[in-house]
Amino acid sequence: MQVRLSTFRSAQFRCPFNHDDAEDCLLKHGTYMRYADAHSNSMVAIPRRLCKFTGKTLSILPDEMLPYWQLPVPQLEDHFQRQCSAAEEQSEQPPKPTNTELPQRAWKRFCSAARLQSLTEYFGQRFPFGECPKGLWQAMMRTGGTLSDILCELAQAGKSLLGDYRCLRPSGM
Ligand SMILES: [Zn+2]
Repeated sequence: MQVRLSTFRSAQFRCPFNHDDAEDCLLKHGTYMRYADAHSNSMVAIPRRLCKFTGKTLSILPDEMLPYWQLPVPQLEDHFQRQCSAAEEQSEQPPKPTNTELPQRAWKRFCSAARLQSLTEYFGQRFPFGECPKGLWQAMMRTGGTLSDILCELAQAGKSLLGDYRCLRPSGM
């Protein structure tokens, strides 16, 4: 399982693997190397923790990485902003010609009925927005937090931008 560093460091973070005794169960468990993103040759060392009760491992990603997606967070944010501004203000910058496949897949996922429903359930009580992905994204960005903050908050609620992972759900929920 993968979490971003800010999620791991937040005060509310608990071991995500369901078991009764959740105190201090995550032991340091070395690192592994992975590519910084899908188009990069640079490698990043990812620290791991091992839950001593379940034997499951947790990978702690740098904040610019998205769990389960080889797509850097700033690239996702940039692409999503473009999707939302294009219709309204005749996009001034031409889209970057390269490497848009993954961001496009991420946007498509974000626009899926399942994502909209899940995120609307979470954010809908806090701010109104139309039943469209652009409205949802713009409303999320207006909360004042950075995308990193929003990702951290979603993770604590057992949700994420692009998919809710069952194993992310904190115990007791
Ligand atoms: Zn544990």
